[in-house]
Amino acid sequence: MGGTRWQAEGPAPREGREPEPEGRSRVDLLLAEELSYWDRGVAVSFPGPGLGEPSLLSMGTDEQRARFLEPFARGDRPRWGAFAMTEPGAGSDVAAIRTRARRDGADWVLNGEKSFAANASRADWIVVFATVDPALGRGGHRAFVVERGTPGLGDFKVEHKMGLKAYESTSFTLRDCRVPGANLLGGEAHYAGRAGFKGALRAFNATRPLVAAMATGIGRAALDESLAFAREHGLLGDVRVRDRLERVRRRLRLARLLGLRAAWLADQRRPNLTEASMAKAVAPQAAFEAASLGMELVGLAGGRGDQLIEKLFRDVKAMDIVEGTGQIQRLIMARALVGYPRD
Ligand SMILES: Cc1cc2nc3c(=O)[nH]c(=O)nc-3n(C[C@H](O)[C@H](O)[C@H](O)COP(=O)(O)OP(=O)(O)OC[C@H]3O[C@@H](n4cnc5c(N)ncnc54)[C@H](O)[C@@H]3O)c2cc1C
Repeated sequence: MGGTRWQAEGPAPREGREPEPEGRSRVDLLLAEELSYWDRGVAVSFPGPGLGEPSLLSMGTDEQRARFLEPFARGDRPRWGAFAMTEPGAGSDVAAIRTRARRDGADWVLNGEKSFAANASRADWIVVFATVDPALGRGGHRAFVVERGTPGLGDFKVEHKMGLKAYESTSFTLRDCRVPGANLLGGEAHYAGRAGFKGALRAFNATRPLVAAMATGIGRAALDESLAFAREHGLLGDVRVRDRLERVRRRLRLARLLGLRAAWLADQRRPNLTEASMAKAVAPQAAFEAASLGMELVGLAGGRGDQLIEKLFRDVKAMDIVEGTGQIQRLIMARALVGYPRD
């Protein structure tokens, strides 16, 4: 590590400029951690704009933000929003999405298939990523808000999951699905150059620390379960058990601090790409270690399927997968370290 400069956080806001209003990322993070401590699946099932919100905030026009986000503040009925990037043939490699967007007069026509989108079947709208030309890679991406009831949006199917069963992950299809031009996120001008893809990246920089916080919450629950079991069964006298419990606490604390650092940078409107990936790479692994330790302590009983620790063990795996897997975060960080472009 000798000589490595810790300078990845980007420039401070320029002098003489009005300070940007502070964001709410850190509060969101602490809420996400606490809710996930109790049950991450239930937390995601709660009404709200969900993962669609960061895309609207980072790419949407003022009019689109007002039209699609303000109804959530009314409280007249439960509402959900959703985010659909993943396809059966495109997960980590988002450049491989094949859902096509074709301009037709003032509208756009979408055709394709999406998978694993949280709460999509009950959502008022879904932020759908599509491509105008797969040969353009990420440069061809466009994001649309597809509203519930739009003809051609259908075939919703709830996916089977090993954990996080309290909310629905849904696949669906778009068949000649006509979307008004006003629902192209950010409007035409937003997609000059690679701005469309950059908007998606900014959204990931907001959601990755959130997923890290959720993992930390699940990890804390697993640590508490492990401690309670070890205490109840007289295992705390064993130095190896104490040492492993403490290591888990240390790693979870570190994960939380990394997430808060990424969120603080976001709140300051400063680049946080490396910190967001770092939090996302570290927290799920720390939480996985917590749940694995709990399973080891409980022993055979963990395999029966009626212990909380076994549920946490199943829930935590997804935290390493969603919003870019651990491997992908490590690739991003390594490229940033040596000064390669992001993709
Ligand atoms: C519970 C859950 C909820 C989800 N919610 C949503 C949602 O709301 N909206 C949405 O759009 N998607 C959602 N997803 C999908 C999620 O984003 C994808 O599963 C994720 O991007 C990984 O894609 P994949 O599953 O196709 O795996 P793949 O991309 O096929 O990867 C398989 C394995 O290969 C590794 N790998 C891939 N590429 C590389 C590489 N270049 N170098 C090294 N290793 C690599 C990966 O890390 C992984 O271990 C959800 C998934 C889950 C499990």
